[in-house]
Amino acid sequence: MARALLVIDYTVDFVAEEGALTCGAPAQAVDGAITRLAQQFAERGDWVVLAVDVHDPEDPYHPESVLFPPHNVRGTPGRALYGQLGEWYQRLQGEGGAAAGRVRWLDKMRYSAFAGTDLDLYLRARGVTELHLAGVCTDICVLHTAVDAYNRGYQLVVHEQAVASFNPAGHTWALGHFRNVLGAELR
Ligand code: ZN
Repeated sequence: MARALLVIDYTVDFVAEEGALTCGAPAQAVDGAITRLAQQFAERGDWVVLAVDVHDPEDPYHPESVLFPPHNVRGTPGRALYGQLGEWYQRLQGEGGAAAGRVRWLDKMRYSAFAGTDLDLYLRARGVTELHLAGVCTDICVLHTAVDAYNRGYQLVVHEQAVASFNPAGHTWALGHFRNVLGAELR
């Protein structure tokens, strides 16, 4: 059985204090946990997918344009991975090698990392059946990705110490939903 860790939207815009659409302190607090998970997965021969929101500037056709201020705009520093995770990714890219080949950057256009991307094909080609989730926000992009993964038949593990939201009630609700409705293991 192959496993993959999906790190969702852990970027400057979603995490940093000055980020355009930041989750703030709760998101900053999970940097270490996310980075350790990513290292473990890459080093032991599992897969890591860094799913990162991308928007074109002032796109009138994107439904988020009327819901949120501009964020994760293509080519801006806000799309860089945040903190220790960002440093780890840069270091790994520089080193190359086997672990780097286990880590993939994935641009995503909607809340779910499956919507309009080749994520499902990528995972199936590698025999991945167990999908581990980390990142932000627990009750938005992590939730929508988890629902799509459930519908595609993946076994889900959500790392409770590696997901965060700006909305404490939404965070708690989503954790219950992962466990009770999507059959996820909370770890
Ligand atoms: Zn977005």
